[in-house]
Amino acid sequence: PDPDTKSRSLYDRALNVLPGGVTRVAPWQPPYPVYAQSCKGAWITDVDGNQIFDLINNFASLIHGHAHPAIIDAVTAQLSHGTACTMPTEREVALAELLCERVPAFDKVRFCNSGTEAVMLAVKAARAFTGRPALAKVEGAYHGTYDHVEVSLDSRPENWGNDPNPVAFVAGTPKAVLDDTVILPFNQPEAAARIIREQGARLAAVLIDLMPIYTGCVPATPEFLKAITEAARATGAIVILDEVISFRFGYSGGQGVFGIEPDLTTLAKIIGGGFPVGAVAGKEKIMAVFDHRSGKPAVASTGTFTANMVTMTAGLVGMELMTEEAFDRLNALGDRTRSKLSDAVRRSQYPAQITGHGSIFKIHTHSRPVNDYRSAWSTPEELADLAALQAGLLRRGFLISTKGNGFLSTVMTEAELDSFVDAVEGELRILATQRL
Ligand code: PMP
Repeated sequence: PDPDTKSRSLYDRALNVLPGGVTRVAPWQPPYPVYAQSCKGAWITDVDGNQIFDLINNFASLIHGHAHPAIIDAVTAQLSHGTACTMPTEREVALAELLCERVPAFDKVRFCNSGTEAVMLAVKAARAFTGRPALAKVEGAYHGTYDHVEVSLDSRPENWGNDPNPVAFVAGTPKAVLDDTVILPFNQPEAAARIIREQGARLAAVLIDLMPIYTGCVPATPEFLKAITEAARATGAIVILDEVISFRFGYSGGQGVFGIEPDLTTLAKIIGGGFPVGAVAGKEKIMAVFDHRSGKPAVASTGTFTANMVTMTAGLVGMELMTEEAFDRLNALGDRTRSKLSDAVRRSQYPAQITGHGSIFKIHTHSRPVNDYRSAWSTPEELADLAALQAGLLRRGFLISTKGNGFLSTVMTEAELDSFVDAVEGELRILATQRL
């Protein structure tokens, strides 16, 4: 890298005032992060004037890419009429109506400001509703940064027992948090159902994602979903579906596509039209824990910027643009991209593989079968290859996440994605020769 770039000098300044020089670690990459100047559609212009095709889309949140004209027009008009005005507005009612109309499992919606908050509120709601303490979650699955859901996000092979065991992710995690968190293996129906049954009446909720990004980015099997929802219901635990990412799978969310009816669903990302957002949605009788009308609610949920006018305006326009046809087109673009990427992998002679679903893909730098967190595990050499692939793609003007993930948007074209596939093939060919 050129030591005289503007990104480098910004990073030098940042190191003086931000821990590690950043606010978010995910977009950081050695030796310094690329600083964005502006973004439009599928493209980012960095501070050094490079044009970068953005396949991260702010981690799956910008389903229409950057600065979509319809969203910008609506938000610009809104700005001169205020941003957040304490009082409720029609926009929040309208966005909740849209969500409830589209998803059969949504009777009521409570908005918040992030996916982390949505998951925290859903877990608290489950505890309040059941009067039970424990939460079951999948090994390696990311659900934001609430204490219990971070457990076993990063479990290393030296910690692996026969069954997944709770492993602290954050230094200083209280033992009580580990004691009340039960870890399930992804896509292993019998083992997961047995672990849920063993917990019996301690379990408040089972928290699942239809395709956790860090357990290999493979979809949940129907057998797994059936086994864990049945086991959860048999013990009286609430089923929480984290659709912070998977809501982009379809018009009625991932739950519509995978045919599951959760008790509570957590949302964020695409429902905010590019602005900070989160929401819990679900069945009337459970959502009643948030209802204040007969005194203090069982679960307090509030927040200064919740359901602010800007987010609600952008979210409504963004979601209205996501018609059934728009979801179909985006998913078809995803299928096409994954299939072309798999062809490129074969041609390159490098032992990579592509997983994913809908508008999401992940490139693995190994070819062993991937089914869950442990089987998705990469060796240090494979991770070094992934880092080289990601950095090489960035030099060619294509941005994927450092974990090999990409999230498409409605404004991407087949031709742009074909160029991306060519770039991946080029980088894999280089890695293949280096391995010889
Ligand atoms: N759940 C899932 C599945 C996520 O992917 C994320 C964020 N990537 C979160 C929860 C947390 O959302 P936020 O970053 O908005 O707090």
